[in-house]
Amino acid sequence: MKTAYKFRIYPNNQQEAMLDVILETCRHLYNTALADRKNSYELDGISRTYEDQAAILTLEKKDKPYLKAVFSQISQDVLRRLDKAFKAFFRRIKSGEDPGYPRFKGKGCYKSFTYPQVGFALEGSKLTLSKIGSIRIFKHREVEGKIKTCIIKRDHLGHWYATLVSEVEDVPQVEVKTTLGVDVGIKSLVALSTGVTIQYPRYYIRAEHKLAVAQRNLSRKKKGSANRRKAKLEVAKISQKIQDHRDNFLHLVSRELVDTADLIVFENLNISGMLKNHNLAKHIQDHAWGKLIQFTQSKAAKAGKIVELVDARYTSQKCSQCGAMVPKALADRVHLCTNCGLEMDRDINASVNIRTLGLRGRAYEGTAKAGL
Ligand SMILES: [Zn+2]
Repeated sequence: MKTAYKFRIYPNNQQEAMLDVILETCRHLYNTALADRKNSYELDGISRTYEDQAAILTLEKKDKPYLKAVFSQISQDVLRRLDKAFKAFFRRIKSGEDPGYPRFKGKGCYKSFTYPQVGFALEGSKLTLSKIGSIRIFKHREVEGKIKTCIIKRDHLGHWYATLVSEVEDVPQVEVKTTLGVDVGIKSLVALSTGVTIQYPRYYIRAEHKLAVAQRNLSRKKKGSANRRKAKLEVAKISQKIQDHRDNFLHLVSRELVDTADLIVFENLNISGMLKNHNLAKHIQDHAWGKLIQFTQSKAAKAGKIVELVDARYTSQKCSQCGAMVPKALADRVHLCTNCGLEMDRDINASVNIRTLGLRGRAYEGTAKAGL
């Protein structure tokens, strides 16, 4: 099983200049290799493969010192990325779609490079990269297993990150004794079938408010002005902060979910998301929801636990006690069943239904603890 860890790294000025040069060289190589594929096909009818281009690269290195300055596996990975882009392109043509031809990368559009196997080492608070040196790294959690791959990335604020992908042995699955249904709340982040709702922390809501103010401020600035640039940077900074806060929080919540039950059941957004009304706020919420599922899946895999996604249509309308349909408007916060009299928070009622859907067809249905 693979796990990815993303850490901020703090290159000094000299190192940062070298990282920038590598990105620029990779971009140049990508574009050159793309042009080579295009020309070889159009002029000579030859379809270049990854192997062809890797062999050409080895030859070219002899008289192009700037190529030599980049660790060889990094440049091979650039060719592999291009190969992937072409394979995806042909696959889509084959299936009858009309995809765009792989594109040349403009300045600043090539943002990461990869050490696929070797050329990097993590020791304490230092990440050593071949041909660059030791860079300070902020490791907010321990890396488990053996690190296989290292990806270096620059974000739109100019911050640098290392994503380390490690491999750990699969954990045997535990016997399912407890089950938890999780529903995406309208006001809260999640509602659990245990009756618990989890809200976003206050600092997160405060930061969102700050973002709204910064965005309003940006919209008032004149296009092309220095003030607009400043306001834009401010918006980007706050957005990044919100994203970091949210990810940290989602890590805490997913940890809690995995600690609570052996089988965790979520709504499958790919099925039901289409049917819901879509606005921007909802879109952002869906994004957080997808991340929560992803974080929970990776933590569950490490603990030998199971995550199941179910088609959650009608789970907010249906009574979790008697099964009667109780139609509600979005504003109705309470589920009040006219058939059996059950009164419950609407999101909790939905999460109990989701839990039931996840249990369907499982042998231990009768033995799993109620509500859990
Ligand atoms: Zn009922």
